[in-house]
Amino acid sequence: MTLTGRTRLAGVVGQPVAHSLSPVLHNAWISAAGIDAVYVALAATETGFPHLVEGLRGGSVAGLNVTLPFKTLALAAADEATHRARLAEAANVLVFRPDGTILADNTDGLGLMAAFAGQAPGFDPEAGPVVILGAGGAAQGAAAAFVEAGAPEVRVVNRTLARAEAIADRLGPSVTALPMDRAAEAFDGAAAVVNATSAGLADSGALDVPLDRTPAECVVMDMVYKPLITPFLAQAGGLGRRTVDGLAMLVGQAIPSFEAFYGQPPPASVDVRALAIQTLGL
Ligand code: NAP
Repeated sequence: MTLTGRTRLAGVVGQPVAHSLSPVLHNAWISAAGIDAVYVALAATETGFPHLVEGLRGGSVAGLNVTLPFKTLALAAADEATHRARLAEAANVLVFRPDGTILADNTDGLGLMAAFAGQAPGFDPEAGPVVILGAGGAAQGAAAAFVEAGAPEVRVVNRTLARAEAIADRLGPSVTALPMDRAAEAFDGAAAVVNATSAGLADSGALDVPLDRTPAECVVMDMVYKPLITPFLAQAGGLGRRTVDGLAMLVGQAIPSFEAFYGQPPPASVDVRALAIQTLGL
């Protein structure tokens, strides 16, 4: 990679951020596309984040991806936001326009839908109720994405019921809330179940829910991608359910981010999924 006086900068801001896969994905695409650009990981403190964003306005910075814990602050730091970012109350993309303004977007929902399209072909979000397990930022974004995609009902199921109720209150009558110990009820007739809790991460306990109560045609997705086949997905696979993994979502949100920064889709010639699997040692 040769850096020049015209090299455009993009990056991902988070805390911690050193483990982020985004630099690997974006730099592979930049290199294959022959764009004069570079993508870096930027750590920030909570108080420093707004200053970092402010200081990058209107220069040669193309944009930023934003990860935990700054997605809500990112929305607040922008001049404008897309409808989907406002609905999710979070931004994972900040586009720095040449006129000095900043547009906030949220491509996590696109990534989620792309993951379903890629790994569960024919899945129709309008076909039946969708269950979201969890009520953190990822769950809220997923619930908003399924409402937008026309799901007739979205059931948010969380250990702390009040957080699920808050999402239901925000997103309208098609969204309902249930506590985790009533997951079996939520699974009744479900077209899809998405684990948006952090349970299932390599160093945390597995999520204990009765997936056998889902219909045979239900698609089961886990946002956690390390391990790639989480205990939750292994259980679903063992029951014969179609499964979708979190890495497909991660790649799916990165593609529209790249487009937003450089005005062109990333080259299809790069197998970023294989690259991510190799980098993560999965
Ligand atoms: P968060 O805001 O910290 O929320 C965590 C959620 O997990 C809460 O609902 C919490 O329940 C629940 N939870 C944690 N441990 C649990 C357990 N042992 N049993 C039951 N519920 C448990 O996190 P987030 O930002 O929403 O992210 C959630 C997960 O999605 C993370 O693993 C993240 O890495 C992943 N993610 C993946 C992608 C992707 O592209 N693949 C994108 C975004 C997020 P309480 O409310 O009761 O505490």
